Amino acid sequence: MVCAIGNEKGEILEQISIPTETPELTVPKLISFYQDKGIEALGIGCFGPIDLNRGSNTYGYITTTPKLAWQNYNITGAFEKALGIPVGFDTDVNASVLGEYTWGIGRGLNSCIYITIGTGIGTGIIVDGRLVHGMLHPEGGHILLHKLPGDDYRGFCPFHENCFEGLAAGPAIEGRWGRKAGELSEESRVWELEAEYIAQALVNYTCILSLQRIILGGGVMHQKQLFPLIRSRFRELLNGYLKTKELEDLDSFIVPQSLDDKQGIMGALKLGLMALERNT
Ligand code: ZN
Repeated sequence: MVCAIGNEKGEILEQISIPTETPELTVPKLISFYQDKGIEALGIGCFGPIDLNRGSNTYGYITTTPKLAWQNYNITGAFEKALGIPVGFDTDVNASVLGEYTWGIGRGLNSCIYITIGTGIGTGIIVDGRLVHGMLHPEGGHILLHKLPGDDYRGFCPFHENCFEGLAAGPAIEGRWGRKAGELSEESRVWELEAEYIAQALVNYTCILSLQRIILGGGVMHQKQLFPLIRSRFRELLNGYLKTKELEDLDSFIVPQSLDDKQGIMGALKLGLMALERNT
């Protein structure tokens, strides 16, 4: 878990990392980092699923997470109680899209998505200038994709055989090819298949959300050779159906994260600012 202190300009002044153990062990360490620092508000970008419905009795809780010790844990309440300041709360990936929208390559847009492809896949979405919540929050890693003939890998998601996360997150690359992504950089078939699944997902997101930009981050996207492969396959799959100025220039439509992997922490800073504004 990354803790940082910053200001309203998005400047990070201090930052530490603390291993995610159990709430009993970890949260007191997080709280002690913030105590006596004079902060005015806190923003939390959290792994999920989480409850974002302000009308719910469990608003601010982590709910059904596979991290068992954190299930049904009132993380927002723990910080509100200990620090006595407004606390903003959203998913880690909604925090990332908010960081890019506020200070990064999403600035000035109306609708954009941030997709992290790492040990899992998550999506944070802004439509009409607002973070998408709805029933829960977007779970764009679990959209179902068309598996390519010849790809015998089952997908590692325990719920779905052919969801995006199960087929294309880091553990899928390792599970399918028997080596870690970092050791496969030179293997073109690995990245062509990876680009296929990512491009399928991006076409779906684009058609449903009417996106103006797609921002890709996470460990797998450090493989920069993926970008041209994804753009080219995206163009083929969309097959000329949509004609917009955004889609004319895929180099600026499908882009890497722009905040040096600080998009999540900067977005959490913005969540804190928003909580402060709501309380004044
Ligand atoms: Zn799944």
